[in-house]
Amino acid sequence: MDIRVEQSCPQCGAPVTLSETSRLLTCPYCGTKNFLQTSSVFRYVLPDKVEPPERGRLLYAPYIRFRGNIFLVSEAGMTCRVVDTTQQGTILPALPPSLGVRAQAMKLARLTAETGGRFLRLSIKTKVILEKAAQISERSGRSGQVMFHRAYIGDTVSLIYLPLLRDNNCLFDAVTDTMLIDLDRETSLPLQGKPFNPRWQVNFLPTLCPRCGGDLDGEGDCLVLTCGNCDTAWEIGNDGLRRLQWQILPGDGDHPLYLAFWKISTRIPAMEIESFADFINKTNQPVVPRPQWHERPMSFWIPAFKLRPKIFLRVARQVTIGQWRLDPEKGHVAPNLYPVTLPASEARQAVKVTLAASATSPGNIFPFLPQARLRDVKMSLVYLPFADKQHDWMQPETGAVIDKNVLRFGRTL
Ligand SMILES: [Zn+2]
Ligand SMILES: [Zn+2]
Repeated sequence: MDIRVEQSCPQCGAPVTLSETSRLLTCPYCGTKNFLQTSSVFRYVLPDKVEPPERGRLLYAPYIRFRGNIFLVSEAGMTCRVVDTTQQGTILPALPPSLGVRAQAMKLARLTAETGGRFLRLSIKTKVILEKAAQISERSGRSGQVMFHRAYIGDTVSLIYLPLLRDNNCLFDAVTDTMLIDLDRETSLPLQGKPFNPRWQVNFLPTLCPRCGGDLDGEGDCLVLTCGNCDTAWEIGNDGLRRLQWQILPGDGDHPLYLAFWKISTRIPAMEIESFADFINKTNQPVVPRPQWHERPMSFWIPAFKLRPKIFLRVARQVTIGQWRLDPEKGHVAPNLYPVTLPASEARQAVKVTLAASATSPGNIFPFLPQARLRDVKMSLVYLPFADKQHDWMQPETGAVIDKNVLRFGRTL
């Protein structure tokens, strides 16, 4: 479930509500459009009712929030699940281990230098929390099986701070006003905290094309902005806008919908996959590789938009296997470009699970996954046309089909 963040417009100060995945802020009052940039993760605070004179005494406890998919490849096969969790990120007794639904029920505020108070150190690693979440799903499978690969493909890792207040030598939850710890008994707790770190600051930058200065296009949750003036595409990254190599395959017929894929070209020497033909042979596809496939570099085609995990894998597999039918041209802006909502870094995490999902004989692939390293990785973004087939969108060259409701639901993942 999505969380809502209250944010004031950097231009006119009007209150705007954003979703946690929003990277673009379009002010409904003054029309200003900015994208959000931070060199760190996004940080939010739960709202409290503490009055200004006491605010300096607030102490904030970090919780790690992860939302995304966990894929497991084991002897028993592949499993995947959607994970949405907000777990304690600091070791302090009596704190709630998870924020539960609180983070979703309340409107959060963005952490800024003006928030005040001090911040407890994050002492639990995100990796530990993800592993804990993965074990929950492993339990649903058979125990004692060999695990070959685990991938966390998430769009959201953020920190949510729970405000605490020290009063009469007790520590209170400042949201619910309940007492958590009697500090007379617990005297050696690390409660000093540290002040706001400028690295946590979120900057609001104008959505202007760095190449020609034109206005960039994109919706609230999209991670890639395009320039209709100079036909460039830009990914919103931690350092700002990064220019992408991009292509488009023009569609026939009326108004196709263009869905983007991250095309990840790579070699996997540990599995002797150097070309597309190697991939077809290794994964035992029921086709004979054409002579030119030996010259064709191997690429994985990962959806650049969110889908439920099983469908995500199926579409990645279908387009990856059918890639030889695709001959895209230089990128240019077209109507109906569907927003990119899965970042390039996350798509890269999906390469090995796509390889596993493509294997018709798992024994040839699964046991080699732990040693498999991707070499000479090149990434680009390719928009493919999908034709309107009443209830579905269909990619004519590869036969990949996506239910319209599933695509719509993906926007909320
Ligand atoms: Zn405004
Ligand atoms: Zn431009």
